[in-house]
Amino acid sequence: MLTRTRMAIARPLFALFLFSFFVISCRKENQVSETPPKQTEDVATLRSFLSEVTGAKTDKITFDDAKKEFTIDGDVIMSLKSASEHYAKAAATSSEDAGGRTTQRRYDFIMNTTVAGSVTIYADGTVPTAWQTAIDQAISNWNGTDCLVKLSRVTSPFEARIVFSSYTDASTTTIAFASFPDVTGNCGPTVNINLYYSTLSASRKQFAITHELGHCLGFMHTNQANGVLIPETPNASDPNSLMNAVVLDWAGYTYYDIISYGIVYPNAVNTKRLLRYYNGNTQDHFYTLNSTELNASGSSYNFEKGEGYMYTSQVSGSSPFYRYYNSANGDHFYTANYAEIGAGSGGYSLEGVSGYLFTTQVAGTRPLYRYFNLARADHFYTVNYSEFGAGASGYTLEGVAGYVY
Ligand SMILES: [Zn+2]
Repeated sequence: MLTRTRMAIARPLFALFLFSFFVISCRKENQVSETPPKQTEDVATLRSFLSEVTGAKTDKITFDDAKKEFTIDGDVIMSLKSASEHYAKAAATSSEDAGGRTTQRRYDFIMNTTVAGSVTIYADGTVPTAWQTAIDQAISNWNGTDCLVKLSRVTSPFEARIVFSSYTDASTTTIAFASFPDVTGNCGPTVNINLYYSTLSASRKQFAITHELGHCLGFMHTNQANGVLIPETPNASDPNSLMNAVVLDWAGYTYYDIISYGIVYPNAVNTKRLLRYYNGNTQDHFYTLNSTELNASGSSYNFEKGEGYMYTSQVSGSSPFYRYYNSANGDHFYTANYAEIGAGSGGYSLEGVSGYLFTTQVAGTRPLYRYFNLARADHFYTVNYSEFGAGASGYTLEGVAGYVY
């Protein structure tokens, strides 16, 4: 009963913030602009604009002159009038968004750590099997992001923080509605699925539900200017970001998706995700807490995954994680044991401190394993022991480099 009562109070509040998945919604209060909105009904201009904001290729955006409507990627329908309004809205708000429309954003309120660590989900009897499958996949997707957010199913709505239900409305392009966290740090309590779009492929259902859950967890649309800017997500095109307001086939998270989830919900306070990159040319693995040091593909290093979380400044009991570089063999080397090569040795130069970790295990931490591949001259670190186990592919286990969250 507690849950139902809380939701009954919460619903009118959240009604203000309900998000439509396809329709790039305009909040009423933002429609007042100091400069007159720029209107256009030029199809080519609008097609290019829709491509920019949805990530759909321009040749996948068709226009029916008789009906005066666009079809995006074969399944999103938007009227000429609506597209024109969105175009005007974007033009009117672009000046208030110095970071650009592709930066990642979060809602004013996010989950507190207790809620984030236990987001319980219930889907009522109106949700068909295919969508139930998508819910399970979305839960698995979020649990795989290695951040504080942990989702699970429960069998009673009264134990649930998020309740899924459904409706059918053929008159809209909206697949689903979700709600945002509240001021006390609860997640958004509802997702409503429009069964009119049950014809979507399984892959798109998975994307859609993962996206809607993103709203409940506090994430806003990547391709819109509303919300609090998430640091380290740049003004760069990210057409496959989960939180763009257009459904795609599920193909995993983008680099900046992973960056943003680690920043909003790190595994421990004052920690950042240790990012792992690989340079195939020099066969070198590189690790940093600073996502702006390299970028997704701006150098010869490609992002691979996160390897847990480290402190950005020293806390009691933690040790610096020293970073060295050997320009002769192109190898980056890290150790928490300064005595190992001190200020530098054997061609390795000390570059600085990457972060802070523990040299003995404390609650909530896991080992960061260290390997070396002599033939490649490559030091490699992972929290996932099963990746190379006791040694594989020329990599020899050298031990535990330290303990990370
Ligand atoms: Zn959305």
